[in-house]
Amino acid sequence: MSNAGHTVTAIIVAAGRGLRAGGDVPKQWQAVAGKPVLAWTLNRFLNHPEITNIVLVTHPDDAARLAALNLPGRVTTTHGGDTRAASVLNGLAAAMGDIALIHDVARPCVTDQIISDVIHATRDTGAAAPALQVTDALWQGDTHVTGTQDRSGLYRAQTPQGFVLAKILKAHQQFQGVAADDVEVARAAGTTVKIVPGDENNLKITTANDFARAQTLLEAPMIDVRTGNGFDVHRFGEGDHVMLCGVAIPHDRGLQGHSDADVGLHTITDAIYGALGEGDIGQHFPPSDPQWKGAESHIFLTHAVQLAKSKGFTLTHVDCTLICEHPKIGPHTSTLRAKLQTLLGIDLDRISVKATTSERLGFTGRGEGIACMATATLVKP
Ligand code: MG
Repeated sequence: MSNAGHTVTAIIVAAGRGLRAGGDVPKQWQAVAGKPVLAWTLNRFLNHPEITNIVLVTHPDDAARLAALNLPGRVTTTHGGDTRAASVLNGLAAAMGDIALIHDVARPCVTDQIISDVIHATRDTGAAAPALQVTDALWQGDTHVTGTQDRSGLYRAQTPQGFVLAKILKAHQQFQGVAADDVEVARAAGTTVKIVPGDENNLKITTANDFARAQTLLEAPMIDVRTGNGFDVHRFGEGDHVMLCGVAIPHDRGLQGHSDADVGLHTITDAIYGALGEGDIGQHFPPSDPQWKGAESHIFLTHAVQLAKSKGFTLTHVDCTLICEHPKIGPHTSTLRAKLQTLLGIDLDRISVKATTSERLGFTGRGEGIACMATATLVKP
């Protein structure tokens, strides 16, 4: 089969009444990590870019639960039959397109990689399914071991299993007896099925313990994203340059302050402290302390960056706006960004320096000083 133009329908078999996992509702409707198992499984296929349509095969008794899911239009629903095979057949009859992926609803942790691998191998060879080679020793026995079994060439089968829709539909219509899965049905009709790599995480929820494992796999990692803002003003005084973002810019006046009066670095430093809930620059470096007199302001910035690191945060973005009439900042912004890149140790495309005037209004408009505002974003994975 060629790779282009094929439509792929995922058939999710969810009509079973399985209560082995405990609880008084079928396992696919039990909640794991805040959502029914069925919703997790469905989302895996809804979010996969190569899945065109989805057929969800459900039990008539679950109509109310199904209605509560507010399914998108790409999901067709149909009722299951008395057996899994009958349910699959109903799903296949409702499917459209060239390729059908048949998946057990009880595997909500299926990965994008497995879905892609099954689709691509099915396009190439006509049928494919994921499996894991058996690595544990195999025994026969009851209460005691009575024998061992050679494990070479043995696989543990998973889903989704992929087929040419027309062929698997015909195979199911013709199959007699009870099959372990759809691969057995396809093989009985003469189809060769390629094995693609499965994943240990693609577990089938069967017992109560499996719910705990799935919960761990499905729970979203807690990403802590913080945004802090800073604002600072320094007054003009005597001097021949101003320090902005660690760069000396020639000017006929300087900025007054206890340190080197770098209004840009002070503001960014305060934004980082703000994101951490760690007060402000004056709290960490009191102006009353003579050791900071004339200090280079990158000392303050580095302290804030290190404090963020020590708390497990990564600085991912800084946006800084300098507000003054003179000196003209615009021609210097690329120099200021490059200096900040050195000081902050992050990529240049995560650093923004902008300049604006205040239209000759207010203290900045009258040329009495320079104001600055900044935003810093910190992320803890
Ligand atoms: Mg300041």
